[in-house]
Amino acid sequence: MNHNELNGESFDVVVAGGGNAALCAAVTASRAGARVAILEAAPRHMRGGNSRHTRNIRTMHEAPTDVLVEAYPEDEYLDDLMRVTGGVTDEGLARLVIAESGVAVRWLGNQGLRFQPALGGTLSLARTNAHFLGGGKALVNVLYRAAEAAGVRVFYDAPVTGLDIEGGRFRAAIVGGSGAPPARIEGRALVVAAGGFEANIDWLREYWGAAADNFLIRGTPYNRGEVLRLLLDAGAARVGDPKQCHAVAIDGRAPKFDGGIVTRVDAVPFGIVVNQGAERFYDEGEDFWPKRYAIWGRLVAAQPDQIGHVIIDAKPVGRFIPPVFPPVMADSIGELATRLGLDPVVLQETVSAFNRACQPGEFDHNVLDDCRTEGLAPAKTHWARPIDTPPFRAYSLRPGITFTYLGVKVDATARMQMANGHPSDNIFAAGEIMAGNLLGKGYLAGIGMTIGAVFGRIAGREAAARARN
Ligand SMILES: Cc1cc2nc3c(=O)[nH]c(=O)nc-3n(C[C@H](O)[C@H](O)[C@H](O)COP(=O)(O)OP(=O)(O)OC[C@H]3O[C@@H](n4cnc5c(N)ncnc54)[C@H](O)[C@@H]3O)c2cc1C
Repeated sequence: MNHNELNGESFDVVVAGGGNAALCAAVTASRAGARVAILEAAPRHMRGGNSRHTRNIRTMHEAPTDVLVEAYPEDEYLDDLMRVTGGVTDEGLARLVIAESGVAVRWLGNQGLRFQPALGGTLSLARTNAHFLGGGKALVNVLYRAAEAAGVRVFYDAPVTGLDIEGGRFRAAIVGGSGAPPARIEGRALVVAAGGFEANIDWLREYWGAAADNFLIRGTPYNRGEVLRLLLDAGAARVGDPKQCHAVAIDGRAPKFDGGIVTRVDAVPFGIVVNQGAERFYDEGEDFWPKRYAIWGRLVAAQPDQIGHVIIDAKPVGRFIPPVFPPVMADSIGELATRLGLDPVVLQETVSAFNRACQPGEFDHNVLDDCRTEGLAPAKTHWARPIDTPPFRAYSLRPGITFTYLGVKVDATARMQMANGHPSDNIFAAGEIMAGNLLGKGYLAGIGMTIGAVFGRIAGREAAARARN
């Protein structure tokens, strides 16, 4: 349906966004008796935001389940979150998300989503993360089907470009797009679930400078932070450092947007990473890859031209998930350097110095082994083996931004808080747009979907209740 047919219509609950958080909210609000509209900026075939790229959700559980091994108790989940964020989290909201995570996963199952155990070679998540059978696309399709069955009206190509908010009270959303005149859609309550601002390079440039032009965006081009900006301009309380984000090192040949999971390069712990000057810049073996992969986006972002190159030899091939792009290959390090556009003499010296510094040890990439360098700066503290077995391989890396953490402050009922210290009258937030309440920095694989599912359902329930009053 053309959204302009909606001009002047009113709903109980208007949901801005069309990913996991929005859909969980819309289904819940509709089942609570509210008339609900979803305004999704993307066209139908691109619906579902970053959620459609996902693979799993982190959930607590006291005993093994059909898809999760052992137990993952609430306190351990919280400890993990505290560790990665360095305590920069709202502990009350974190406890709420964790405590509700099991219920949220069962709820997703009740909508028709199927789960599967982690596959071998994934990031050691068999105990902590339930994997979606069919991935994020299956999740998104299941939830859209549930929303339509529950009577939710879904509008695609319907970007929210304006919000009529007076003194913290939402009155209407303005929808633009498709070259048509803007439409005004009124609502008794608003759920904002429109993601972060990671796809807005101009906004990223405000904090990262020209380096932002070299960032690749792993997910949807539609998360441009328009709704977030409108809310902040309307006096919402902000949370999160605008420079904090989830960023991994991905193949430099990935598309500017939407490359998804297959562009990630997991070869780093098996080799060395050099910059455009052919110099190493960080310990590639600092810790297990699942605990370190999310720092490499920022590390590469800090290098000249935002480029890094992973160099490996033939030994580790088959030990990491093969990226979608083939490696650059050569029979000598000098030739490899030439193919990468690096100075062959410097790269040869970097590799030789690394090889000389490698101490004998028992290589085992499943433990923090004793293969390390000595007398080298920066050190490689585990899995350091000489790079000496041709053919040599390289993957060039760029920062791949997953999502940003700047967002709006919420309370335990998902109600958006205003900068003047009062709660908004009828605006609720869920997902990436409020994830900064829990993620001050760092990341715990799978918690993005947990935050969206738990807060989406809370926002839907509360928005429906608010609309009835
Ligand atoms: C490649 C990749 C893999 C990932 N893997 C995982 C994983 O396995 N597990 C995990 O937990 N997390 C993962 N994440 C993170 C995860 O995608 C997010 O945390 C989660 O999807 C956020 O859900 P959301 O509903 O808040 O946002 P999204 O799913 O991004 O939805 C935002 C929605 O808002 C819409 N929108 C934006 N602007 C407007 C506007 N102005 N008006 C109307 N609509 C608008 C967008 O079109 C989109 O539909 C991954 C991310 C990426 C990019």
